[in-house]
Amino acid sequence: MSKPVTIKDVQTILTQPAGSRLIVVKIITSEPGLYGLGCATFTQRFHAVYAAIHEHLRPFLIGRDVDRIEDLFQTGMVHSYWRNGPVLNNAISGMDMALWDIKGKRAGMPVYQLLGGKCREAAPVYSHADGATKEEVADNVRRFMGEGYRYVRIQQGGYGGKATAMQHPEGIQPGAYFDQRDYVRRSLQMIEHVRKEAGPEVELLHDIHERLRPIDAVGFAKDVEQFKLFFLEDPLAPEDIEWFRHIRQVCATPIAMGELFNNPGEWLPLIEGRLIDFLRMHISQMGGITPARNVAAMANMYGIRTAWHGPGDVSPIGHAANLHLDLWAPNCGVQEWCRFNELVYEMFPGTPEVRNGYLYPNEKPGLGIDIDEKLAAKYPAESTIEEWTQTRTPDGGPVRP
Ligand code: MG
Repeated sequence: MSKPVTIKDVQTILTQPAGSRLIVVKIITSEPGLYGLGCATFTQRFHAVYAAIHEHLRPFLIGRDVDRIEDLFQTGMVHSYWRNGPVLNNAISGMDMALWDIKGKRAGMPVYQLLGGKCREAAPVYSHADGATKEEVADNVRRFMGEGYRYVRIQQGGYGGKATAMQHPEGIQPGAYFDQRDYVRRSLQMIEHVRKEAGPEVELLHDIHERLRPIDAVGFAKDVEQFKLFFLEDPLAPEDIEWFRHIRQVCATPIAMGELFNNPGEWLPLIEGRLIDFLRMHISQMGGITPARNVAAMANMYGIRTAWHGPGDVSPIGHAANLHLDLWAPNCGVQEWCRFNELVYEMFPGTPEVRNGYLYPNEKPGLGIDIDEKLAAKYPAESTIEEWTQTRTPDGGPVRP
């Protein structure tokens, strides 16, 4: 048997070419010139992920056989004894994706080939149409349709909406205020308007972003049923999963859920109970390609499709991982796409491209994507105190963002 290729070093690259702070793991191997890249992006706590990789995962990985992806995923996850959680899962994901990248490069094959080969040539994508008014949202939907998009997510005034007037008590705390009841009324009017203007064919999606009280989310799902959404996203927080049963009892609005999930205990009951229709996990947040492949295969047996999380706080390497899973998975539903700027394409050569509403891979071995480290260093990740996650209702009470 030939000598195994081993892990020589694990590097962590922090960069911010657009709004989000991105974390990329680079695994250097004992074979000259052979390395792999993985996404470990937890943008709001990137210093913690950096420390988890550099101080804890790196010493554990050096000298290991790069071929043992499953073994290193399993042992890496329990190496800290305390497992799961966004920091550790993202660190593990950086390793996991980089090892899949390396295995693909060694095999001379794109990662989707290692998963089982293509079920489709490209992934159908959706992008986000927002607007201050329902008319503006409808205009933006038509613009997307003109570009070839057949799926569009529609929001008015961002998550939670922008209420025109809110009556606050005196001396309120700073925060991102929104009115849950006002949001429900406006969103239903907006969705009705867009459906009427854009016609029955375009697939419309909407994200509640877990901002409603559970019973109001049940009511929203029921009231919006008539407008035939492709899916209603995150109607409930992971803490309220028992409420999904009630949504199912009152309507057939398709439900997407999962970007905050980081523990199999959170998604297993929803799949087994057939209580959701689309898995929305953030692949790095759940630990990488290995657990995503497993959950996609399981969901397929329950008639549930995938719609992996794909915003700007997934690095292009994470988006490439999403796409390889989409090309392979028989149950790929749709892929969220964030329309990266030119700089991102320059910094990450091989970033997938959208043409006529479909996201295409390149056919390079591995994940098919690289990073220009010199350029990345020119855009260092900067610490910040997030504003949008400091959410409050009109009376000042804190709520989940
Ligand atoms: Mg969402």
